Amino acid sequence: MICRFPARFIAVRAAVSARYNPASTALSTTTMRQKPAPDYLSGYPAALAAEVRRLIEQDLLADMLLRKYPLAHAVRTDTALYDYVMELKDEYLRNAGQLSKVMFDSKLHVIRQALGTHTSISRVQGQKLKSKREIRIAAVFREMPIAFLRMIVVHELAHIRERAHDKAFYQLCRHMEADYHQLEFDLRAYLSHLDATGRPLWSAAVLPGARTDEKRGASG
Ligand SMILES: [Zn+2]
Repeated sequence: MICRFPARFIAVRAAVSARYNPASTALSTTTMRQKPAPDYLSGYPAALAAEVRRLIEQDLLADMLLRKYPLAHAVRTDTALYDYVMELKDEYLRNAGQLSKVMFDSKLHVIRQALGTHTSISRVQGQKLKSKREIRIAAVFREMPIAFLRMIVVHELAHIRERAHDKAFYQLCRHMEADYHQLEFDLRAYLSHLDATGRPLWSAAVLPGARTDEKRGASG
């Protein structure tokens, strides 16, 4: 995709500030949130994060995201998720050890680095050292476009090889999904929208016609 998200923000910003009406942006005062919201955009330049917040306040981000990602994916169950994860793993990390469990986790709170978890427990079993690996994906990813699910799965798979969020880690992420950084940014913009408005953009109602393989081959 040639049109990168940040570039779009700039274009939309110009259009919006021309007809910006402060009276119509009462949205933030009607949300009754007691605790401070997690800042999903803290890792980005302040101006870019502010731009996303402005688009959310002016109720423009939702349409931008829906235009870019019109369909929800169909990976709804833990079994379907396991198959999806294994397909990616077989393609890129075939020899990286077995996964004993893959699941959606509704108890996983989506805050910054906890969008998903990858755990590896090594224990001695008889004479052998056995390693048990699990990937858990926050349940909020059940109702998202396939590109966002792919991004988080790629992230957790990369942790099999690379523990820290360092250069080697992100290189591996980009090897599995060339658009990784853009997808993570778009995902974080969506999570910010969700947090501010409580309004999911992709629900079961969008499912007919959704394909789980729309992204496959595009990043070969
Ligand atoms: Zn991580």
